[in-house]
Amino acid sequence: YQGAPLLLEGKSLAGEKGKASERSFVMIKPDGVSRQLVGKIITRFEERGYKLVAVKSLTPSPALAKEHYIDLASRPFYKGLVDYITSGTPVVAMVWEGKDVIRQGRRIVGATNPQESDPGSVRGQYAVSVGRNLIHASDSFDSASKEIELWFAESELAEYKPTTWDWVMA
Ligand code: ADP
Repeated sequence: YQGAPLLLEGKSLAGEKGKASERSFVMIKPDGVSRQLVGKIITRFEERGYKLVAVKSLTPSPALAKEHYIDLASRPFYKGLVDYITSGTPVVAMVWEGKDVIRQGRRIVGATNPQESDPGSVRGQYAVSVGRNLIHASDSFDSASKEIELWFAESELAEYKPTTWDWVMA
């Protein structure tokens, strides 16, 4: 994977650091799709007031899955993690935009291990196993920049204003 230079003058596909236009990469993993939780998960982001900027369903290639989780390459669960993501049951890859969406997205998703996740979070409500924790969300602005660029072309990111936007973002 050869990405374009990121964070030119603080700007990237994740928006501008610290600005309301911030974006996060969120992915419903194959267990979330197989367990038919896609609608419920999307609803949490929509109802919070976030804007769906991009969405697609795909079975990631091993190369894509490995690159996405490259920081975990030395961990014992890395191969199993890549196998899980590339199992053949698709993932739903999304970009969400709005105020503090990166940090709030992590709160919606919950702690990595569902046994530690807040019961109101997606993982805390629907998952019990760290190896099948349903969903991914970027953990920082820099991760969001890299992940959006890895999964989406800029032309796939929509520019529009939801009718709720002024009320939500004020
Ligand atoms: P997060 O997804 O919350 O950002 P990490 O980046 O630490 O968490 O890990 C990425 C993913 O790797 C986790 O969501 C989970 O699917 C998997 N994972 C993490 N730790 C383990 C583990 N101990 N055993 C199996 N899978 C794990």
